[in-house]
Amino acid sequence: MTTTISPLIAGNWKMNGTRGALDELQALADMLTTGEAPRAIVVVCPPATMLAAVARQGATSGIQAGGQDCHAAASGAHTGDIAAGMLADAGAQYVIVGHSERRADHGETDDQVRAKAEAAIGAGLKPIICVGETEAQRDSGQADSVVASQLAGSVPDAAGQHEVIVAYEPVWAIGTGRTPTNDDIASMHASIRRQLVDRFGDKGQVIRILYGGSLKPQNAREILAVEHVNGGLVGGASLLAKDFYTIISAV
Ligand code: PEP
Repeated sequence: MTTTISPLIAGNWKMNGTRGALDELQALADMLTTGEAPRAIVVVCPPATMLAAVARQGATSGIQAGGQDCHAAASGAHTGDIAAGMLADAGAQYVIVGHSERRADHGETDDQVRAKAEAAIGAGLKPIICVGETEAQRDSGQADSVVASQLAGSVPDAAGQHEVIVAYEPVWAIGTGRTPTNDDIASMHASIRRQLVDRFGDKGQVIRILYGGSLKPQNAREILAVEHVNGGLVGGASLLAKDFYTIISAV
């Protein structure tokens, strides 16, 4: 892990959680406040219906809240969508954009992801911009070029002046229990770092690069110790307070 960047662990609850999940959030809050102080910024991204409650309840224990997606427009005729400003109004400080499930389920392109990231910045949120190759792309030796192209297309120029976070999430590792080797993670994160520095200079040195994809209590310590891994984006294992706390503690 690059020592000058404070690590961040974000939990992505995806489409899981109703009000009962606040008990699990409270259990996490209790662990974070009674144990050793966490060495990472802790963010929970619940479904939008839970955002205000998570932001309110998490605040006392330092847990910050994030959305899972936002629309690129500030308002308007977009039934079912949520503007970045609405997430901020509900208490969010972060928002995930370009998650592979959004790219796959909703056909989101790099241009759209970049527009969402810009909207997030405009609303005062820190976008967590996801990139990552599919298994077929990795098997055919295209992982580096695919991620480079997503990075170039999805990260807005505003990242030179505002805080953004990049999450490298190989699609084939999400929810599968499979992870790349530490060498593969190191190589991809180093490549992302080079591209960020090429484009943003010194600012590119301090943009957090999270790893995501089957990060678990069992593998968190070694993955989070890989160079240029500045934290993690955690799906399934963020739903259980004990597992998520173990990952946070692994930093
Ligand atoms: C994710 O969806 O962002 C993710 C990392 O999921 P999981 O941890 O379940 O693989």
